[in-house]
Amino acid sequence: MHMDLVAALDIGGTKIAGALVDGHGRILLRAQRPTPAREDGDTVMRAVEEVLGELTSSGLWGRATAVGIGSAGPVDASAGTVSPVNVPGWRGYPLVDRVRAATGGLPVVLVGDGVAMTAAEHWQGAARGHDNALCMVVSTGVGGGLVLGGRLHAGPTGNAGHIGHISVDLDGDACPCGARGCVERMASGPNIARRAIEGGWLPGADGDTSAAAVANAARAGDPVALASFERAAQALAAGIAATATLVEIDIAVIGGGVGKAGDVLFTPLRRALRDYATLSFVRRLTVAPALMGTDAGLVGAAAAALDLEPSAAARLTAPAAGR
Ligand SMILES: [Zn+2]
Repeated sequence: MHMDLVAALDIGGTKIAGALVDGHGRILLRAQRPTPAREDGDTVMRAVEEVLGELTSSGLWGRATAVGIGSAGPVDASAGTVSPVNVPGWRGYPLVDRVRAATGGLPVVLVGDGVAMTAAEHWQGAARGHDNALCMVVSTGVGGGLVLGGRLHAGPTGNAGHIGHISVDLDGDACPCGARGCVERMASGPNIARRAIEGGWLPGADGDTSAAAVANAARAGDPVALASFERAAQALAAGIAATATLVEIDIAVIGGGVGKAGDVLFTPLRRALRDYATLSFVRRLTVAPALMGTDAGLVGAAAAALDLEPSAAARLTAPAAGR
């Protein structure tokens, strides 16, 4: 029997998804539970163990060589712990030890969800074939991850590339993280909606005040809605340009709900990038919408296990790693 699969866990504030994934990124088996996010830590862990139980009881389990976890952050990969903002029962929770115990001692790799999404886009999506990339999730929050020199760069704690909390406005609004003028404070979906409402934009008859509704209004030419997306695009462009200047990425991939806004976001974003990415070595930087759908977290967790756990990768027949 070939040992050619990895187990993947995608842990968020609303659902816990698990899968067995092969070396080509195909999902062979999946399991899912709602996250009991308001319960105590051990109750949340039991939901994870139920998901893992469905995987380990499968006939395919004997082929699994490692477990990759992508979790809502913050995570601390060096300590093996997670403290997801939306799961208050987990603070410094020893997730890696618990998952290892539930899976018979397999190697376990933990990364933040932004890094997992990046691994997925690099393996199978919009960053495929790019050795230096920044991938971002722009939705309720703003997260991200980096591929440098062809490898996922998770950083010591699994959070590298967390572009949502770099400041692009020195005296800007206070951010819940404690800093000021963070990209997230200017470009997340709730902040796009907030700024539009503060500017006088009124929702339609359905009362929808989401960023998606603001995007629809912008598409229809509403100047306040357009201005809110323009400001978000500037913040994203400044963050992307700073990243490119530091580490020479050549593509920025944008996913998440706001990333689905299409030209309403990407047209001003490309324009603003010309304002902020000015040095010769960043001028060819491109931006592209993410291609991986709802499975990005699972496929990315699997990719992280393959990429960051050499003993697992070594047992695999050349994965379809993007070239
Ligand atoms: Zn912040």
